[in-house]
Amino acid sequence: MRVKCVLCDKESQLDDDSSLAKKLRNRPIHTYMCQSCHERIKTKTEARIASGSFQLYSYDTQDDDF
Ligand SMILES: [Zn+2]
Repeated sequence: MRVKCVLCDKESQLDDDSSLAKKLRNRPIHTYMCQSCHERIKTKTEARIASGSFQLYSYDTQDDDF
């Protein structure tokens, strides 16, 4: 089946028997992301988690100053 990445509009061909193709057919609401976008989101999410915990840490430090 043909799928289109929701982020970069790149079209790919999925093996009809692959689990991802079955998932997309059964749940049309499930969006497809190409491998490079998937990696990018993953890296971004990990970076956000890292910076999030850093902000939480400095926030705690500021609280100590009061
Ligand atoms: Zn993409």
